[in-house]
Parts: sequence; C-alpha cells; structure tokens
Amino acid sequence: MSGERSREAFERARAVLPGGVSSPVRAFSPHPFYAERAQGSRIWDIDGGCYIDYCMGYGPLLFGHAPTFVRDAIVEQLDRGWLYGTPTEGEVELAERLCTYYPSIEMVRFVSTGTEATMAALRIARGYTGRSKIIKVEGGFHGAHDAVLVKAGSGALTHGVPDSLGVPQEFTRHTLQVPFNDPEALAHVLDANAEEVAALIIEPVMGNVGPILPENGYLEEVRRLTREHDVVLIFDEVITGFRLGIGGAQEYYGVVPDMTTLGKVLGGGLPIGVVGGRREIMQHVAPQGKVYQAGTFNANPLSIAAGLAITARLEREDVYRVLSERGRALREAIEDVIHRLGLPYSVVGIASMLKLFFGSTPTNYVEAKRCDATGYLELFRNMLSCGVFLPPSQYETDFISYAHTDEDIERTVQAYESSLTRA
Ligand SMILES: *Cc1c(COP(=O)(O)O)cnc(C)c1O
Repeated sequence: MSGERSREAFERARAVLPGGVSSPVRAFSPHPFYAERAQGSRIWDIDGGCYIDYCMGYGPLLFGHAPTFVRDAIVEQLDRGWLYGTPTEGEVELAERLCTYYPSIEMVRFVSTGTEATMAALRIARGYTGRSKIIKVEGGFHGAHDAVLVKAGSGALTHGVPDSLGVPQEFTRHTLQVPFNDPEALAHVLDANAEEVAALIIEPVMGNVGPILPENGYLEEVRRLTREHDVVLIFDEVITGFRLGIGGAQEYYGVVPDMTTLGKVLGGGLPIGVVGGRREIMQHVAPQGKVYQAGTFNANPLSIAAGLAITARLEREDVYRVLSERGRALREAIEDVIHRLGLPYSVVGIASMLKLFFGSTPTNYVEAKRCDATGYLELFRNMLSCGVFLPPSQYETDFISYAHTDEDIERTVQAYESSLTRA
C-alpha cells in the first residue's frame, strides 16, 4: 500500500494546517510524502519509500542529510545548553570567519532566517542612506516579508503592486522592479528616481526561478551603476553563499557588493540568517546605531555551532571541486537524454545547482515563465515514482550535495530517461 500513511497524514493535516503544509511549496498533488528519516543523499518516507534527494531542504544541505561532523557539533553544544540570552565566543569566531570569506563583509548581525536577513538589510540600507525606495529584480525571491512581496511585471517606474493579500498597497509603494540581465532598464530606473533609491537587492544567480545565470558583464554593470548613483548594492546570497564557493557569488564573479545576506548552507540544516556589510553601513545597527534589529534567537548557540562546523569543513576540504564536477556530470548527462529524445528543453546550472527547463534557457523571469510548468510536474511525479525527489516545481532549483555518489547520479540519469520517455 504505497503512500497510504502519507495520504492519511495529509488528510489529517488539511484540517489543521492551511493547505496541509507549513510552507507552500511543500504541497503537491495528490499528497506530499511524509519524512521518516534522512541520511546522506537519501530520504525515507513513513511508508518505507526511499528517494535520492535533490531538494536538499531547498538548499541548506550542502553536505547531504545528517553529516556526522555537523551532528557532533550540535550534540556537543546541546550538552552545554542551547540558549543563553548572553553572547558566546562562538558567534565572535563565526563573525570573524565571515569577514574573511566575504570581501563585502566587515561586520555582521546574526538572525534566524534569510527572510529576517533581507528585511534587516533593507532597513539598514534605508537608515544609512536616509532614502525610502528600493529596487528588486523581477522574480527575485528575498523571503516572505511585505516590502519584497511585489507582483512581477508591476512596473518599474510606477509603484509596486503587492503579490499577496494582507500587504497594504502603501507597503510596496517604495519597491521598484527591473528585469534580470538588463543593465539599461536598471540605468533608466536609477535615473528616473535619482537620490530616492536606498538599495538594490539582487540574487547574483537567481535561485528561485530555476537557476538563471547572470550574463557576462551584467553584475559588473550593476555594481558600476549602483556606485554611480550612491545606491547600496545588496547581494542576497542566501542560496549562493557557500554554494558557489566559500565566498559565494561575489567571490565567484569577483564583484563586491556593499551588503550581503546569507543563510541556508551556513546553518547546516539549522535556521540561520546573516546580514553583513561595510563597517560604515553596519555601524548604524542598534545598539551601536539607530537602525533597530533584535531577536530572541539571534546567534542561537546551536546554529552557531553548526555554522562553525560547516565553515571549518569548507576551509579544509576540496568540496567545491567535487561538487562542481558532479554538477557538470549530471547536467551533461541530462542534456544527452533530452537531445537523444529530441525534446526542446534546456539544462541550466552552475556549481552544484541545476534545473531542467521545459523550454529554452531563460535569461530572466518573463522568459522562465514561458516554460511548460505543468509538463514539469508530470516529470516530477514520474521521477518520484522512480525514487528520485526533485523539488516539486519548475521554478525551484535542484541541489547536488557532497553526499551524492556517482551511482546516485547514474540512477538519476536513468530515472530522467524513463520519466521523460513517459512524459
Ligand atoms: C530562501 C531564501 C530566502 C529566505 O530565507 P528563509 O530562511 O526561508 O527565510 C531569502 N533569499 C533567498 C535568495 C532565498 O533563496
């Protein structure tokens, strides 16, 4: 009776959790599988099913599920208590490390999620510049707070339109949008709003509409234009941080923003967020300055312990070479499959990020939206029945972890072959 217990759990869940889940993307039809345990590249459900996992907690699990070295660090901290309400040496150590890895970071504030990190980053940039407007990229995702929940295509020169009920129009009035990979559009918006824009927030590689890569020279142009207009450039590296390299996309592409947000991989699976930037900017954060930010769980000892373990491991090992090789191998193998089957699809990725797009390679949100997202869901379900768990959306990036083996990759490619033949 495959999936019976998960089906029952979902039925119970729908009575007490909106949509049956605790975060929207986790819902898929007919029902999600309920996790029982996970180890390395594998996740098991409560019905005994086992899957090779490319969702990887939506990005954080760079070393796969439950790596021993992270577990040991967490347990060691657990034995000494897990919340103090007073600082620890660990947070100082981790802050120092972040300042050495990220060229843009001289000071940090630890928070609990990526959402909080981008929320704080925008407030700090506004406090620092004394300006109200912000610019984001269409389709860019920066968490679930009001200022960034703006409908795509709602116009760069006018006011942002909320993309969620419950967000008052006034709260998104100051949010302007530009398409990715379009420096002219950005120049235009900056000119039209001269001296009014506090910050541009951007994912250097868009990670929440598949991966969409920056074209040659785009990030450099973004840097040049924001500098020219005295606009704080915020790289939202909640996905790309520690994913493209220990210094994130800014190290990978050699473009240094003014502020950076981090999260996901750094916490090793525990909740963490970081907002960091130049001292001149970050010194405006309370209690040193007048931009308020606070949190009961800021720099919580368990997440800090995990962050120290993760960063120590990243410093020590040849992790990124291995991850990139596996990423390239999987992308090339899927490309072979779609060519053999004569499908008009594309495989996009970088380092250990990838996506099979049901359409041609997108360069921005509007192009990504032309993909056959419904067709993709069919692939998702076929893959699941072949024992491979992809994120259940055309627009969520697939992640390879250090725990994925050559054999995992091989089985995954076979699953693509049979799933796409059926689709
Ligand atoms: C996931 C994500 C966030 C939000 O992080 P949470 O920890 O889920 O709040 C912000 N920005 C980007 C780029 C993300 O991928």
